[in-house]
Amino acid sequence: MPRDDLNAALARVLDALGWGYWVRDLATGAMVWSETFRRQHGIAADESPTREVFLAHLLPEDRDAFVRQVEAAYRSGQGVVQYRVVLEAGQIRSCIVQVVVLTTPEGKRLAYGINRFDDRHLALDVALAEKARTLNAVIAALPVGLMVFDADLRLRYWNDRAFAILDLPRSLAYEGVSFADLIRVPASRGEYGPGDPERLVAERVALAKTFQPHRLERQHPDGRWHLVQGEPFFDAQGRPAGFVSTFTDVTALKAAEAAVQVTRDRLQTLVDHLPSGVTLFDADLKLVAWNQKFAELFDFPLSLLEKGVDFATLLRFNLERGEYGEIADPEAYLAERLRAARSFVPHELERTRPDGRVLHIIGQPVPSGGFVSIYQDVTEQRRIEAELRRRALTDELTGLTNRAALLSQLPRLCEEARRRKEYLAVLFIDLDRFKWVNDTAGHVVGDAVLRAAAERLRTTVRASDLAARVGGDEFVAVTFVTEATQASQLAQRLLDRFALPFEVGENQWQLSPSIGIALYPDDERDPNALLRAAGLAMYRAKGEGGNRFAFFTRSLHEAATSRSRLEQRLRLAIHHDAFHLVFQPICDRTGAIVSAEVLLRWRDEELGEVPPARFVPVAEQVGLMPAIGRWVLRHALHQWVQWSQAGLRLPSIAVNLSAHQLYDTMLYETVCAALTASGVEPSALKLEITESAMMHDPALAQEQVQRLATLGVRFAVDDFGTGYSSLAYLHTFPLSELKIDRSFVTPLASDERDDAIVDATIQMAHRLGLQVVAEGVECAQQWDHLLRLGCDFFQGYWFARPLSAAQFFHLWQKEQTTASSQRPFE
Ligand code: C2E
Ligand code: CA
Ligand code: CA
Repeated sequence: MPRDDLNAALARVLDALGWGYWVRDLATGAMVWSETFRRQHGIAADESPTREVFLAHLLPEDRDAFVRQVEAAYRSGQGVVQYRVVLEAGQIRSCIVQVVVLTTPEGKRLAYGINRFDDRHLALDVALAEKARTLNAVIAALPVGLMVFDADLRLRYWNDRAFAILDLPRSLAYEGVSFADLIRVPASRGEYGPGDPERLVAERVALAKTFQPHRLERQHPDGRWHLVQGEPFFDAQGRPAGFVSTFTDVTALKAAEAAVQVTRDRLQTLVDHLPSGVTLFDADLKLVAWNQKFAELFDFPLSLLEKGVDFATLLRFNLERGEYGEIADPEAYLAERLRAARSFVPHELERTRPDGRVLHIIGQPVPSGGFVSIYQDVTEQRRIEAELRRRALTDELTGLTNRAALLSQLPRLCEEARRRKEYLAVLFIDLDRFKWVNDTAGHVVGDAVLRAAAERLRTTVRASDLAARVGGDEFVAVTFVTEATQASQLAQRLLDRFALPFEVGENQWQLSPSIGIALYPDDERDPNALLRAAGLAMYRAKGEGGNRFAFFTRSLHEAATSRSRLEQRLRLAIHHDAFHLVFQPICDRTGAIVSAEVLLRWRDEELGEVPPARFVPVAEQVGLMPAIGRWVLRHALHQWVQWSQAGLRLPSIAVNLSAHQLYDTMLYETVCAALTASGVEPSALKLEITESAMMHDPALAQEQVQRLATLGVRFAVDDFGTGYSSLAYLHTFPLSELKIDRSFVTPLASDERDDAIVDATIQMAHRLGLQVVAEGVECAQQWDHLLRLGCDFFQGYWFARPLSAAQFFHLWQKEQTTASSQRPFE
């Protein structure tokens, strides 16, 4: 086929295919366009075939790229360029032009191009554009700042939030900006710390180039915090392709965290400084909070607690170190303890640890599940209570049973004798001439002799017998016998043992006993009467010259009715004006008089001066005490008013209340009447009641005390330490003062004084809000010692003996004029 024919055929083929074609003379730029080409591009037939005309029909953003690429193809000799055309209706179509450059035999370089529509590209573009739009929207809407860097650390994607959080200028928000340019801003603001910003930038760029995941928190100079997180991403070959950084503003979170931390620190400080141990177990019995004190109380290693240990592990730990003693079936024991713990009910218990430490534990469930427990070391408190109990039952000097304990045990022993159908023999033993030893050799020797006598008594009776010391040199032995001769045999054995002299130091003391014997049930059935009967028999033995024993007889009983004489005289006393009052000063820590204890005196025409210790019990027994008590109260308050008119306004006046008065149903009315009659303020009246009186019927006592306390009357517990009660229990009474019994104060004068009890009593009393009065302060050492132990008030012969009202007033006047306080009053 001739060449021209071939050209014409080719042109037809191309038109038929819908492909446009053209030729361009690369030297002149002159072009020839085919019809189809014009149609494809919507170019009119009369428009000249220039590049400008062509480009005008292209999508504007494609024009530069087209020129660049097509020129490249001309240079290289061939190429393919894709572009988009805008048709008349605004329709956009995608075209591909294939270019090839040929040189004619004449040496002309001509470029040929074939253009065809390729809308697959267009669809792809639309999809891509759509995706890009979505992606941009997503990035913009992210609640965090985002930056995506490529492998060359150039910024490719970002959102405004990233620039806002990092506080970067918008001028840097363009594609391709380098990582280094971006971080130079914070570096030069000093956000990476001191030093040359360029060096800091270089360091960070080097670090970024390692493409490691990273996470860090940074604070702006303005105080805001943000969290930076970086994740590298990789291309298909696994090479680093860049990294994605996110920036989160965590300022509010930080503030909240700090607030929580402050609250937590405060709580921890509080818990750490509690004087008790504290734990909090959650609903799964896991230990979630505890303090140092808890670890100390239980000797738990901190390493055990710090791991957030659970209850079962602690139990097992304790079990293994023998904390619960010998447990037959440890697993069953554990299961039971766990079951109990899971019941989450309030509980309160006391546990004694193997080392003797006593812990008081209170557990309380908490609303969110689990329970909180408080642990207190009550070892000292319990020790003191036990010691007080022991003291209450034993005689301090000899270690034998004391009078109170003997009296409390006698009824039980009588009952046992009745059951055994035996006699109970009570031997009352008094040392002849003991007073003489005491007077000539002093009480230190006297005490040594008493201890030796007690030892002889103890080793002479059977171990099952009871040996007691009931008074200065008075002892009692109680034993079961089947006939009276056995009692006399025991008495004889005692006489034999006491026949040997007592050796104390250099000297020997010959002391014989007088022994009186009374038998239950023949002589007396009442335990008190039985003891009295033995005492009477003892007096007979002594009357007959001592160093012998005597049985109780009825005639002795007759003599004892002298007591009923006492009773008869007592009944007359009130009406015969035989009572009077004396007043003993109570001083404060400077020695100044702040109160007076009112003490009753009875001088009988026939019996002479009878001490209250003798007549008060009788008055109690025969029911005279309420009447006598009324008399005392009236006269005491009257005296206070008189003093007050004379210028001596005592802050308080202390009046003793006997047990019978305390339980007298008219007590309240009696006190009210006396207060009203005298016009004395209730708060100036202090009533002293003994522990044992209170404990007789605690509920009733409390009611009586409470009624008067509401009125303003104050109460002191008298003779503290001689009863059985615990301070903690006494505290349930509205008391204001505690009077430490003389028997605790006396030993403070000796060299090896044991002040632990007094010390602890004062401390505990203070903790319970009670003031402490020491009774029977007889010397400077005692006062000195009590001052050091923190005692508040003092009473005793060292300051003054009980005085008449006139003497009391004079003493006070003298104190006012001399104003010297560090001096006892005689
Ligand atoms: P009390 O209540 O313990 O009174 C203190 C007793 O200790 C008083 O004995 C007092 O004279 C004495 N005393 C004070 N300082 C010292 C001291 O430094 N050394 C020594 N060795 N003794 C000191 P008093 O007057 O013989 O009274 C004995 C008890 O009689 C009183 O003990 C009290 O329980 C009772 N009593 C006295 N007057 C009354 C009263 O009016 N009513 C009632 N219910 N009982 C009274
Ligand atoms: Ca008293
Ligand atoms: Ca007392």
